[in-house]
Amino acid sequence: MIKEIIKLGLLTAGILTIMLTGPVGVCWAQHGNGAAAATEADAATGPAQQWLAEADASSRLRDAVEFLAGEDCAGRRPGTPGADLAASYLEQVFTGLELALPPESRGYRQGFSITRGIHVTGQPAVSVNGTDLEADRDFTVAGFSGSGTARQVPLVFAGYGIVAPELGWDSYAGLAVTGCAVVIMRGEPQQNDPDSVFSGIQLSVYADLRRKAATARDLGAVAVLIVNNPVDEDDLPELGPTYTAAGFDIPVVYVKRELLVNALIGTTGLSWHEIAETIDLENQPQSAVVQDTLIDIDVAVEKDLATGFNIIGVIPGTEPALAGQYVVLGAHYDHLGIGGPESTTPERYGEIHPGADDNASGVAAVLEIARQLTANPPARSVLVSLFSAEELGLLGSSALVRNAVVPVESIHSMINLDMIGHLRDGRLIVGGVDSAEELAGIIEAPAAAHSLALDSDLSGLGGSDHMSFMREGIPSLFLNTGAFAGYHSPADTAAGVNYDGLLQVAAFAGDVTVSLADWPEPLAFNEAARPAPAQGSNRGNLRVSMGTVPHYGGELPVAGMGVGDVVAGGPAEAAGIQGGDVIIKILDRRIANIYDFMYVLQDCTAGQVVPVTVWRDGAELTLDVELASRNVQH
Ligand SMILES: [Zn+2]
Repeated sequence: MIKEIIKLGLLTAGILTIMLTGPVGVCWAQHGNGAAAATEADAATGPAQQWLAEADASSRLRDAVEFLAGEDCAGRRPGTPGADLAASYLEQVFTGLELALPPESRGYRQGFSITRGIHVTGQPAVSVNGTDLEADRDFTVAGFSGSGTARQVPLVFAGYGIVAPELGWDSYAGLAVTGCAVVIMRGEPQQNDPDSVFSGIQLSVYADLRRKAATARDLGAVAVLIVNNPVDEDDLPELGPTYTAAGFDIPVVYVKRELLVNALIGTTGLSWHEIAETIDLENQPQSAVVQDTLIDIDVAVEKDLATGFNIIGVIPGTEPALAGQYVVLGAHYDHLGIGGPESTTPERYGEIHPGADDNASGVAAVLEIARQLTANPPARSVLVSLFSAEELGLLGSSALVRNAVVPVESIHSMINLDMIGHLRDGRLIVGGVDSAEELAGIIEAPAAAHSLALDSDLSGLGGSDHMSFMREGIPSLFLNTGAFAGYHSPADTAAGVNYDGLLQVAAFAGDVTVSLADWPEPLAFNEAARPAPAQGSNRGNLRVSMGTVPHYGGELPVAGMGVGDVVAGGPAEAAGIQGGDVIIKILDRRIANIYDFMYVLQDCTAGQVVPVTVWRDGAELTLDVELASRNVQH
């Protein structure tokens, strides 16, 4: 009864909702729910027990954020003990709330494999004209290096190592680097010039070190040495081999500039600073074969495969006709651990990145909503989903979809909470509203009920886990309170979270979840809102699409980019590429991983027909693919 009144009145009478019971079936900050949780609390350990025993929502939200952003969870990088501790905490809370298990699951944990990084095996070695450099003092292995050995190979200085035909820049013009080691500088030309063709003072895609290394490799180089930009300190990044690395196939090392300056001056007559200035002044590469310099290099690395864990539970729906359908209530619980390429403060590598706003805040809200909904379940079932490895490329949410924890077609809609801990002036960013026409209406009354002003302009906001669902044509909402200074840094602490705002957003999200779960009809997905298939990290720079869905995790038979699936009606399907293929070459450029694939596509144009060589059933097969423009939906 109350439900019907509220549903009717919801769009017009927010106040009514709050006075009665608050939003539909949800009772905020009133009192704890149900004795059941209390008994299970005993089974849970420390932090989870405390959460379950807390009397009110505000305390629970704060508890969860403080625990997840605390020292013990150590920044929750997938595959680390801190991430595992967080996963256990979430499991215990789910147990305490007596969430049901997903169909055919024996637990709340859903594992998927990830490439956590690489580690160096044996003793890496680099020598210049027979003089051995010392590892970690004179050089370090790059976090995306491959394995390889080169003996007495010539050294070529290739400036910034950039080939950008559309910008009229080619650091390798007139140079042959086949069988050579190449030394390149970090950064790009005219880096501090707002009028620079390389996107002014903002670093462009061409500054990407992985891309530079792939360019050198594609031109035949057998090893890449990277030195810091002359405007920076001549130190070695403490990066080392700890990052997500999708297999690279030649050795890449960072080297101290000073160790090569004499050779450089001997060749060009210029020091590092002078050569960088000359490149900018003459707006010309100053690349050259380094005279009388032979390099020996020996690096062996192994991939660190790890398992990420999504934590997934179910709140069964009450309406028999709808209970087989799901609303996904999701948030990612992973973060950056002690830093990494995703950190905005590389100089603070080694310090815990607590990730209080990103995304302990979203997780805390999901736990609170789940708690409220277990006491008052809606018509459809709710799939409470805490994803891992979002920061590594939406790996957890795409694994959930790929492994069909529940059939994709049974998912009615999705709501994703990512970074909701910095509400300012009651302004909440809501993405995905255009993914179904009903959504604008659905979010209106809850916003009024919780005094939130909604902003559905997503410009500048990257993707998050809702993308994995929108790619499947599932209407999805994305809640976010916007970027803040401490984003992706050790400064994102629990103390910085606006807990009153968090409660407000959580209550709003709870209402919306119930409205979606009680919505009488399926929602009509707006095809124009379907994002392009995932293409690795800076997918924003691709103008063309091949219509392949990358295969994530697990070993491939050969180095390349695994094809998990092809998009129906897309270029790849038309050309005969299949799921299970491994793309190893496009045009004449070798593809060792997803990044190489992306770099080649960044250099192609829509309508271009490119020969793509795949590895299938132990043999190579070349197919001609006509690339499509990226905004054409397949
Ligand atoms: Zn996030």
